[in-house]
Formats: sequence, structure tokens, C-alpha cells
Amino acid sequence: MAKQRYERPVLKPLNGNITNKFGAQAGFIPHTHIDGLAVHALTAKYGSPLFVLSERTIRETYRQAYTAFSTRYPKVQFAWSYKTNYMNAVCNVFHQEGAWAEVVSSFEYEKALHNGVSGDKIIFNGPDKTEKDHRLAIQNNSLIHIDHLDELYSLVALADELKVRPRVAIRVNMDTGVQPMWDRFGFNYETGQAWDAINKILLADKLDLVGLHCHIGTFMLASQAYRIATQKMADLALQIRKQHQHQLQYIDMGGGFASKNTLKGAYLNGADLAPSFADYAEQICTALFNAGFELGELPLLILETGRALVDDAGYLLGSVLANKRLSDGRRATILDFGVNLLFTSFWYEHTISPAQACSQYAEDIVLYGPLCMNIDVIRESVKLPPLNRGDQVVVHRVGAYNMTQWMQFIALRPRIVMIDLAGESHLIRDAEDLDYLMQLERVPEHLKKFDL
Ligand SMILES: *Cc1c(COP(=O)(O)O)cnc(C)c1O
Repeated sequence: MAKQRYERPVLKPLNGNITNKFGAQAGFIPHTHIDGLAVHALTAKYGSPLFVLSERTIRETYRQAYTAFSTRYPKVQFAWSYKTNYMNAVCNVFHQEGAWAEVVSSFEYEKALHNGVSGDKIIFNGPDKTEKDHRLAIQNNSLIHIDHLDELYSLVALADELKVRPRVAIRVNMDTGVQPMWDRFGFNYETGQAWDAINKILLADKLDLVGLHCHIGTFMLASQAYRIATQKMADLALQIRKQHQHQLQYIDMGGGFASKNTLKGAYLNGADLAPSFADYAEQICTALFNAGFELGELPLLILETGRALVDDAGYLLGSVLANKRLSDGRRATILDFGVNLLFTSFWYEHTISPAQACSQYAEDIVLYGPLCMNIDVIRESVKLPPLNRGDQVVVHRVGAYNMTQWMQFIALRPRIVMIDLAGESHLIRDAEDLDYLMQLERVPEHLKKFDL
């Protein structure tokens, strides 16, 4: 017998169907309709992949959030965080519901003006405001939230030049017991930086300090962090009252509430884990009431909730391009959308449902996107009934950050539709095409021709 060749041993992880404490999953329910419209009809009409937004879910979620706060505190104002989803149709649903605009760049600021939000109801946040942005914001009487001392001094110079008193707040960051601490934005509470900035504004007397702002993080699963943050904000407001006899109009607690998505590696399902609006509201409003404000001096409470208000309202519909077996035996399914459209799949284990009748038997599947890029993975391992070429899927809870952080890499962006309260679908953003992509390109004369 011929001597066999030595082969070095290889370690391979077993991809068995590991049961967790919930047991093995069974019983897949296809998600065939969204707000009464058939998924297959939507993709037939608008193409695949396709983003779908439910106007009903946006409004219902907003009203839940608003009620959670307004039943606990007498003066509440929401401001829609544009960067979370700045489709004009989406912004306008929030504006119709009563939300102001919260923006973090000049183009977002202009978008809010374009949508018809009056300047005094636009909150301008962020570290990136040019002198031109400041002039426009001052001219429109907007609320300018100062991020750093350089911004403060540049506003003082403009106030002198324009002979006006811009309405400003400072952004405060603080230790809320949650790591990592977001101390790169605004002025720190514990080190006295925030108090220092407040003194500089009030004693120089060029700017009208109308409020205090914070935004302590995003996807904050610990609602108690908001109680600590609110206490520190209220403490500053009361100190200002005492030392400078100056009364602030508002305290802005920013955004950061978790949506019901499941974070990667989380043990529990996001829908079971995320605090409710009532939980967050209870922490914030209780802290405000107990801070020591006198009757009639309670500040307006502003909230800039983004993610938690719109995530549930968004769906991504897509189709199966192909299936294959990987070298370790796993089934891999290739979809027509990837991380280019579903940026949040870097952090979330998105729930994905088949959009048509399916087998009850599931298998561990890797879901890949269509990009020629190794990291284009939608789910590393998800139990799903086998899907065939042409089958469609629904990705749930994609309304926040995907339609703003999406990449135009390899593939062009698809259409977005919104389903209204009557169950009618409306195109709210058309698909990109080659003309759109090349509109801004210029080819120098000497590069216009070549021979191959
Ligand atoms: C992004 C952002 C928000 C919204 O945050 P969510 O986590 O989506 O709620 C609010 N305020 C500021 C200043 C932001 O930068």
C-alpha cells in the first residue's frame, strides 16, 4: 500500500443548530403585507430592493413618545433629528405632528428651512458650523447649541458685528455611569468646563443663553443614565439662577433612546430589552420635578429623539439572487441588497422574514449582500427556511440611519416609498441612475479619448 501523504490537521468550528434558552426556533411566519399592501406587489411596481416607510407607524410611535412625556411633564417639545432620516416626506410627517427640526450640518439646516420650518424652531447642533452657517442661523433667530470655545468666541464676534444677541445654549457632556462616555462633544460637567463656558457667556453679555443641551449617547439601554444626566443639567440651570439671576427657557435632553432592534451579541431580543418611552420619560421628568425648580420656573423640556421614533416604521424589501454551499457546509444566500443599503447591519441582528409561503424547517444560513466585498454580510448566522432564487425577504426596523448613511458603492441607491394612512403607496425618493451619478463629474479634455 502506498504511503499516504501527511495532511496537517485543520480546526473548523461546528455550526450545529445550537439551541439557546428559548429552544429551537420553529414556525416561520411569512411577512407578506405591509400596512395592507402586498410585498410582492410593491416590488413589482417599484423594483427590488426597495425601502418602505409606514406613515402610520411613524405617527403612532411619535404619539406614544409624546404622550409618555406630556402626561408626566407640563412643557414638552420634540425636535426631529434630521440625520436619523432626512427624507423630506419623513421630516414633514414629524413636523405635522408638531416636532421642530434638529440639525447638525449646514445642508440639514437648509433642508429644514426648505421644508418650511421657521428658523426659530430649528435647533443647530454639532461641532461643524462655519461662520456662514452662524450668520444664517442668527439671521433666522435659530437656537444655536455651542459645541466648543472656538464656536463661542466666533459667535461673540458676530454678535458685535451684527448688533444682535444670538439665542444660544451650550452642549454639556457628563458622566452618567455609562461607558464609553461621550465627552468629545460640548463642555464637560464634572471638570467645571461647562460652568466656565456659562460664566463666559453670561458675564460677557453678548449672547442670549436660553438653554442647556446634552445628548449622552445613542441606543442607551440604561434609562437611569437619563436621570443622572437630567439632575446634572438641572443643577447647572439652578446654579445659573442663583449666581447670575438668569432664568433659562429650556433643558434639551437630546436623543439616544434605544429602538427595538437587537444588538449583535445581545442575549435577549431587543423588543424585550429596550426600555419603553414611559421608562425614559419617568426618569427624566422625575429628575426635573425633584431638582428644586419653583412653580412657574420649570424649564421647557426638549427631546431630540431620532432612532426610537422611526426605526420600526422602515422596511427593506429584497430578493434572493442565489444560494451556495460554503466550504464548511453552511448554506449561503446572496441577496440583492447589502451593507451599502443596510448600514445598521454592522451593529444589529436585523429580523428578516420570508415574504412568501415557506417551509417550516429552518437552517442556519449566512446572508450575503451582492457587493464584491468580503465584509458585505447582512447576517453571519440566521435561522431561516431555505430561500430560493427570486424569493423575497422583508428586513424589519430599518427606518433609522440607513436612508442617510447608505453608501453609493458598487450599486446605486434604490427607491423609497411611503405608505400613507389610507394604504396608498407614494414614491418619496426615486432610484439613482447613471445620469444622477455622473452629474457632478468632469473629464478633462485630454482624457476624453483613448484607443484600445
Ligand atoms: C444624532 C443626534 C440625535 C438623535 O439621536 P438618536 O440616538 O437617534 O435618538 C439627537 N441629538 C443630537 C445632538 C444628535 O447628534
